Amino acid sequence: MKHAETVTFGGSDLDRAADLRGDIPALAAAMQAPDTRCALIWRGKPLISGDGALDLVRVPMTHPVLAEARSAPMLLGRENGAALFAHDLSVWEPEGLDSEALKQFIDPSEQRHPSFEGDERFAELRGIMTRLSARDAELAATMRSIFAWHASHGFCSKCGAKTEWYQAGWQSICPSCGTQHFPRTDPVVIMLITRGNKTLLGRSPGWPEGMYSCLAGFLEPGETIEAAVRREVMEEAGVPVGPVRYLASQPWAFPSSLMIGCHGEALDDAITLDPNELEDARWVSREDMIEAYAGQRSDILPGRKGAIAHFLIRNWLADRLD
Ligand SMILES: [Zn+2]
Repeated sequence: MKHAETVTFGGSDLDRAADLRGDIPALAAAMQAPDTRCALIWRGKPLISGDGALDLVRVPMTHPVLAEARSAPMLLGRENGAALFAHDLSVWEPEGLDSEALKQFIDPSEQRHPSFEGDERFAELRGIMTRLSARDAELAATMRSIFAWHASHGFCSKCGAKTEWYQAGWQSICPSCGTQHFPRTDPVVIMLITRGNKTLLGRSPGWPEGMYSCLAGFLEPGETIEAAVRREVMEEAGVPVGPVRYLASQPWAFPSSLMIGCHGEALDDAITLDPNELEDARWVSREDMIEAYAGQRSDILPGRKGAIAHFLIRNWLADRLD
């Protein structure tokens, strides 16, 4: 698909500076260099600034807020020849924190740290992802996934000992048995299933009323992408799928998925719903979907902007899947 990498989180050709990760003297020098910058994250929410189009905030390594971080910074990469790190400030307890808001699917709350005097604030990435540049979206997704992995994988899965930060945050290592551990990326297939002029969409319980999206599911060990597409569609909607082809991928840092967008051609129309997986599934014609994307339908709401399903359907409507 020619437009594959224009998807949100589609990448920005970031120099990830893998050569620096294991070079302790070079890392130490980079942390002291005056043009080195650091991005910040608090409980999965990147520090951003701006209004309309948003920027990921980059502070100098001498910024006083960095004294609050409890672990070493991770190395995100290099920008304009200078190193860029990231620090996790999750230990900070904001005054009057609305902890219920943090649990929502899209947390609308924003937190302002007293070390900043401008409009800098921590914001939920799902809610702001389409307002960041491709570079800042890639950086935010990367640090969100890496810090979430460290937070949930602090112990060796082989021997149970506490692991240590390694390779500037890109690995951890077990001091007891020596096993190296790598950050997780969990592949998920998400598929635009078509039959003639219509596409198969489903909705999960709890989604906003009328919202329908592409079917999706995790790949299983020992399974190809194509087989996962066919299995998931059969399990969820009882629809057999023939030819499958890859379209585009999207890192989805909630917390560590890689969405693999595919096109599959259905061999039959009849839907047999699995109520444990889906609340409803339906075929939607191109004409009806165009009206839905124009906001003219109350019975079909398009999926969230920025998500790959929205991107795949929009390109199908524009006849740009090639
Ligand atoms: Zn171990």
